Amino acid sequence: MAVNKRTALIAGNWKMNLDHLQAIAFVQKLAWSLKDAAHDFDAVEAAIFPPFTDLRSVQTLIAADKLSLTYGGQDVSEHESGAHTGEVSAAFLAKLDCRYVIIGHSERRTQHAEDDALVARKVQAALRHGLVPVICVGESAEDLKVHGPSAIPVAQLQRALDSVPGSADIVVAYEPVWAIGSGQPATADQAESVAVALRNTLQEHGGDEMSSRTRILYGGSVSPSNIAGYMREPNIDGALVGGASLDLAAFASIVRYQKHVGS
Ligand code: PEP
Repeated sequence: MAVNKRTALIAGNWKMNLDHLQAIAFVQKLAWSLKDAAHDFDAVEAAIFPPFTDLRSVQTLIAADKLSLTYGGQDVSEHESGAHTGEVSAAFLAKLDCRYVIIGHSERRTQHAEDDALVARKVQAALRHGLVPVICVGESAEDLKVHGPSAIPVAQLQRALDSVPGSADIVVAYEPVWAIGSGQPATADQAESVAVALRNTLQEHGGDEMSSRTRILYGGSVSPSNIAGYMREPNIDGALVGGASLDLAAFASIVRYQKHVGS
């Protein structure tokens, strides 16, 4: 297991799946399943990232039942308010008690042409409203061939950190694009070596405190059978989980990785 003081974070990115009624049923069952298993939320935080339309229902359920799950949005507007049809502000997410927001997911970068400058502005918007940005970085298969494993993720992180103070609370998610939804995860060694490069970037940007405090997640075809390998690495503090986060048993098992591999 990771020998550091960072609280592990297992984050489920639902993408455009589960409406608000399905979300309520899923969150109830997930919370019960983890509670029945006496899951230690102080050791391993479990966060979900539902679609925007689910967030109010998720907020109400988690608050009413005092559940230990945390949650956030999958994206945020760079703007505060106004004529930006279809966008959702960081203020609105904060009002829904979101702790986190995913920024710069590769699907936003490729399907919505989001570049590093926009990602950086979204990070600023999140921080202005007390949200913890989960900054996604990662190289495509082509980038990997041309530039090797770390160059693109490091450059993306450097740009996202523009104007971010060293004291800011952020999470970094290393998600190689070729591993997302492909069933071809990075090996634990590959993920760790990029995590080391990302941690060095945090150190150069914000000093030792930022580097030692900030959680770095791995994402890309994470499953109950491979999570343990990542979590044994000293610089990997959790996972951003896509497909497997929609399968209750699989997600609960990933969250409980300490139990099935022994801590
Ligand atoms: C993701 O999209 O963030 C992701 C990691 O997806 P998957 O786990 O399905 O590869």
